[in-house]
Amino acid sequence: TLVIVGSLNMDLVVRAPRHPQPGETLIGSSFQTFPGGKGANQAVAAARLGAKVRMIGRVGQDAFGDALLATVQRDGVDTTFIRRDPQAPTGVALITLDAKGQNTIVVASGANGNVSAEDVRQSAQAFEGADVLLVQLECPLEAVQTAVQLAHQAGIIVVLNPAPAQPLPAELLQMVDYLIPNQHELTLLAGGISDREQAIRHLQAQGVRYLVVTLGEEGALLALGEDRLILPAYPVEVVDTVAAGDAFAGAFALALAEGKTPLDAACWGNAAGAIAVTRPGAQPSLPTRQEVEQFLKE
Ligand code: ADP
Repeated sequence: TLVIVGSLNMDLVVRAPRHPQPGETLIGSSFQTFPGGKGANQAVAAARLGAKVRMIGRVGQDAFGDALLATVQRDGVDTTFIRRDPQAPTGVALITLDAKGQNTIVVASGANGNVSAEDVRQSAQAFEGADVLLVQLECPLEAVQTAVQLAHQAGIIVVLNPAPAQPLPAELLQMVDYLIPNQHELTLLAGGISDREQAIRHLQAQGVRYLVVTLGEEGALLALGEDRLILPAYPVEVVDTVAAGDAFAGAFALALAEGKTPLDAACWGNAAGAIAVTRPGAQPSLPTRQEVEQFLKE
């Protein structure tokens, strides 16, 4: 069983020939809505691979909130601990895609910004019998910190995907069992150190035990103490890299919850990430268990 404390967003995507100038109105060509948010994406990623997932978070009392709850439920995520915020609207991401596929994104966190330490404490039941806590940084840090503390004290494995990246206190990093940043996040967490090895050592000195750095088309790097291991990426045809990191994190956490070794878990992450980049969209691109198992066999 997995507990996820995280965000749920509705992605609102317009396509336009180019990005508008300030003050300009452009006529676009299409509008689509997609369920998203790193928390929800990772919850769906793990649930689709067969995990029992309990999610803690907030959506508004609006139609986007209804839609987001329905989509994660369809994949089997337990939404008992997701609150309907009485004041704030559901989080949205306003995405403009130009003809070249370049995007600009503005996120209004809405209800995600109200997920509190109190929310987590009142959801203590969600942690009962759980194997792994998986968190990201799209909800307030106090909620993340409270969840990590609760899990750590209960002997639940703590996995943190530090996205979007922000500097984190050492007290938090010390309670994290597995930290999964991408290269960009690794640099930011290490206070701007761009050399990979130096950044890893910097974080280890702050108490991070196990680092799993996702390297995009280069795969993933495992770092424990002095040991380093690179798992090369699976060669695939890239269609859309959106949610590759979410696929990796969800699959990695699921595999740990099933008692797999960190190396095996990273293989699951690598496979799920590779499959996700071959398909468009965030949640629609996340693979099933059968697909990942098939992939790992080949
Ligand atoms: P993020 O999406 O957070 O930036 P990455 O780009 O590092 O994260 O991708 C996460 C994981 O997805 C990688 O570690 C890898 O397993 C897989 N992946 C990403 N891009 C590719 C690719 N081009 N080919 C194969 N696998 C990929």
